[in-house]
Amino acid sequence: MRINEITNWAYAVTVALTVFSGGAFILSTESANQERVAVEQHLTLDTLAEELALGAEERSDEARLYVMRGEERHLEAFHAKEIEERRREAAIRNVRSLGVTPAELAALEEIERDAEALDKIEVAAVEAYRKGDQAAAQVMLFGPEHERFQTDLLETVARFRELTEVRTGAALNDARIRSDWFGFAAKTMLAITAALFLGVLYFVLKRRVAMPLTRMTGIVTRLAKQDYEVEVPLDRRRDEIGEMNEAIHIFRANGIERDRLDAERRSDQQTKDLILQMMHRLQACQTQVELADVVARFAPQIFPNLAGHLYVLNDSRSALVTMGTWLDPEHSQASFPSSACWGLRRGRPHLSNRGQSDIACQHLDSGEATGLCVPLTAQGDTIGLLYFEERSNQQPAVETSRLYLELIAENIGLAVANLQLREKLTSLAVRDALTGLLNRRCLDETLNRHARDEAARPLVCLMVDIDHFKRFNDEFGHDAGDVVMQYVAQIMLDTIAEAGTAYRFGGEEFTVLLPDMSETAGFELAEQLRTRIGTTPLSHRGRILGAVSVSIGMATSPANGPVATLLTRADAALLNAKTGGRNTTVSASRVFADDGAARGLARKSETATDAKSSLRLR
Ligand code: GH3
Ligand code: MG
Ligand code: MG
Repeated sequence: MRINEITNWAYAVTVALTVFSGGAFILSTESANQERVAVEQHLTLDTLAEELALGAEERSDEARLYVMRGEERHLEAFHAKEIEERRREAAIRNVRSLGVTPAELAALEEIERDAEALDKIEVAAVEAYRKGDQAAAQVMLFGPEHERFQTDLLETVARFRELTEVRTGAALNDARIRSDWFGFAAKTMLAITAALFLGVLYFVLKRRVAMPLTRMTGIVTRLAKQDYEVEVPLDRRRDEIGEMNEAIHIFRANGIERDRLDAERRSDQQTKDLILQMMHRLQACQTQVELADVVARFAPQIFPNLAGHLYVLNDSRSALVTMGTWLDPEHSQASFPSSACWGLRRGRPHLSNRGQSDIACQHLDSGEATGLCVPLTAQGDTIGLLYFEERSNQQPAVETSRLYLELIAENIGLAVANLQLREKLTSLAVRDALTGLLNRRCLDETLNRHARDEAARPLVCLMVDIDHFKRFNDEFGHDAGDVVMQYVAQIMLDTIAEAGTAYRFGGEEFTVLLPDMSETAGFELAEQLRTRIGTTPLSHRGRILGAVSVSIGMATSPANGPVATLLTRADAALLNAKTGGRNTTVSASRVFADDGAARGLARKSETATDAKSSLRLR
């Protein structure tokens, strides 16, 4: 029941009880009035009876005194008393309206009769005295008849008073009992009203309002502090407190929802921030390896539930090879042909979800994992693939993060394309297009750097020149000459391997720099190179080109001279090898055996803008 209804009911019952109690009080007062009226009537009748008896006696006394003494004042008093008696007789007639009983009325009439009989005797006695018959008058007034009537009158008055007293006593008793009963009823109802009021007050205030309010205050305080762990008990009451409880339930539910949305927004913002950070770093990457490292570091932070691979197409664009991996994806191969991926075939993201309706990529094993392949494209060209794999089936992260995954893939694709373009441009700038070796400019930069920063570090320089190269051009054409050059370059790369770097110096001449190598080791490597080139037969388009030989001039630094003269000295040694019959290796230390010659050569090379050309002129 609602508190409002309870208070309304309590109010109605209180009003009804108050009205009844008021009525009982009025009735009680009425009974008290009746009591008072009964007492007054009794007093009136009692007084009247007493006056009647007393008046009759006084009149008799006045009549007797007159006949005894003959004084006129007693006669006057006798007549005055007679008037009073008439008044009393009239009063007796009115007494009937005071509710006297028939017995009382009979007594009154008897008193009236006795009084009249006495009156007659006394009037006759007074008359007799006035006529001079005093003796007769005295006999009448003191005789037995007068005595009898007077005694009778007094007895009747006494009886009347007794009757009146009995009746009045009964009426008084009745009125008192009624008054007491109504008074008791009024007090009882008043007590019930008070008890009801206090009970309702206790029930409404304490049980229905104060206690729930205290409980709810605690709950609301915790909710205000955003402590949504607080338990809000279910309250099915359909009153104001119940409604308040329901409102608190809604408030808590709204708070939890708002918290969830806040957390979602925060997590979303965090994801965006991380993506932005990753983008910035991607743009600053200088190599694809760096880029793969950035992706492998950021991807697990952005999507902790997704493992993945970053694949790029190999140079021949036939297969995808892993460049970066994070969180150990288990179901995709490290390398696979591009045709094995539905995402690459279709040029759009493909979700492989085994057990579902769509087809799964062939580079995935038969596991149950869900994998998303997002092709990396730039300006319409496919350059790689971003692969994401859910780490557990309980958290379907691929679908929920798909927009971000595609956004990331787009940016990684652009970054990879930029890097590839940059690498291509760099390669064009530093490499020789025909042989793929580093070019002359690169050689000069390396030598300058060495001379500037690492002058004390041992460095062996080989100048390699193909012998009679012109013959290949002349006999087999320039294409054949190019093939010879590529062949020599390849053997150089294979032979040197990690020991140094090969450069195309210009024309059919090459330079090899071998840091941290002794002259002896350098000489051995040069010989090894010369032998390998000379012992491999060459053919081009079905025609045998014949053997290719090279002449090699070697110089070292700083043992036999500074870096600045290294090329000049090596070139001089090469010249020496040419003039010595070709297909041989000559060390500059042998050519410039005496130091003075070397110093003179050094001075010359320092003044010339091109050391090599100065040597050639010489
Ligand atoms: P030597 O034994 O004295 O070194 O004689 P050689 O014929 O090798 O030297 P020479 O300087 O007479 O001829 C070099 C030729 O190499 C001249 C030039 O046409 C040719 N050549 C230079 N660069 C290239 C190139 O990139 N491709 C081709 N096919 N030929 C080139
Ligand atoms: Mg040459
Ligand atoms: Mg040559």
